[in-house]
Amino acid sequence: MSGESILRLCDVSFSYSPERQAVSRVCADIHAGERIAVLGPNGAGKSTLFLLLNGVLRPSEGSIRYLGKTITEKNINVLRRNVGIIFQDADSQMIAPGVREEISFGPMNLKLSREETARRVAYAISCMNLQGLEERPPHYLSGGEKKRVSIADIIAMEPAVFLFDEPAASLDCANEEKLEAVLDDLSGQGKTLLISTHDADFAWRWAQRVLVMQGGMVRADGTPPEIFAQEALCREANLKCPTLYRIKDVGRTQSPEGEREIPADGGRIESTARGEMRE
Ligand code: ADP
Repeated sequence: MSGESILRLCDVSFSYSPERQAVSRVCADIHAGERIAVLGPNGAGKSTLFLLLNGVLRPSEGSIRYLGKTITEKNINVLRRNVGIIFQDADSQMIAPGVREEISFGPMNLKLSREETARRVAYAISCMNLQGLEERPPHYLSGGEKKRVSIADIIAMEPAVFLFDEPAASLDCANEEKLEAVLDDLSGQGKTLLISTHDADFAWRWAQRVLVMQGGMVRADGTPPEIFAQEALCREANLKCPTLYRIKDVGRTQSPEGEREIPADGGRIESTARGEMRE
């Protein structure tokens, strides 16, 4: 991947308790403008990695660089300002008594002008389909509405890097589609996007790169075709197989003239054709 490395993790580890590392010796270069899906089973360390990237947690070992600058206690705000995180639990992010105030809070904290704050808030409200809810108290919204407010909160901050921790959880189909349109829009603006998800179909169609985490480590790093072609990896890291990847394989087994292209992992294709793939 060409382009500037916006975030660099060098041997980053983090432990909540002395017995176990939640994130262990992670090395990764994240380039400006990349669309990255972070996959892996529950407890793999995805959320912890995001909290480290955003400066909420500090590495126990190793270092993080933002645009070439090593992050220390003194300049930790560089991460907090430039890397926005949308938490899995939307409630943990809400602080204001109304939705508009909630979304205004970040831009006002950045000491932006009233006009610029109003522009960003209006944009974030329209991105996340929140028209009509502006004056409602966030705590009385449904789970999906709260999620949309928490995403709007970060959109209004206009960070360079967005970390979405399972953003589609609790969104209905219409708002999931809307979210994907917003992700495309942010990507078109050159934003760097990392999304932790269990949705293999989404990762397949959306991500340029997939990081697979397991046991606190980055187990694999590659394009979606490179990752999903690894049957043992997918099985061990509990990754579902994307539907389009399966269809592609079934197409190959049902080629005309009865000729079968035998793929590298022929056994998987056999089971796919018999409808036995893991879900
Ligand atoms: P994921 O997001 O992939 O599900 P997490 O980063 O939440 O994984 O968790 C990684 C490991 O750290 C797990 O073993 C989890 O139990 C542990 N962990 C996460 N948060 C805490 C916490 N606040 N205190 C103690 N352990 C935690």
